[in-house]
Amino acid sequence: MTNNCIFCSIARKEKEVPFFQIYETNNFIAFLDIYPLSEGHTICIPKSHYPDVWSVPNIDEFMRFCKTVANKFQSVTGNRTVHSYILGTTVPHAAIHIVPNINIFNQYSFAYAQHKLIEQFKRKSIMDIGAQIRDRYKVA
Ligand SMILES: [Zn+2]
Repeated sequence: MTNNCIFCSIARKEKEVPFFQIYETNNFIAFLDIYPLSEGHTICIPKSHYPDVWSVPNIDEFMRFCKTVANKFQSVTGNRTVHSYILGTTVPHAAIHIVPNINIFNQYSFAYAQHKLIEQFKRKSIMDIGAQIRDRYKVA
């Protein structure tokens, strides 16, 4: 099956889409992000197409794969700080970002983006939404 998803092209290792592979198993692949937030910023994806992480049926295997990648960075760099992000805002294919040694706080960082979002939203409305979720799924 073919589609226009760039991550599916990477998973199929199509020659038109160059990428730098970090690690791979039968079901998952990890490669360097071409717009890195830090040295070693890596994207982990399932080889099958799912629109988001929460649609991946073997999500436990996916998380173990990401843990392996993060642990490899910790082993190689000696740095225990490896951040991870689940976004899905640029490519509609399940992906988890592994970002080792993030030490920037500029307009390109997620932290800055989050900071700006907090400025935009009213804290009360955020807490209202949180309370609705908490109350709806409250354990009896
Ligand atoms: Zn895809």
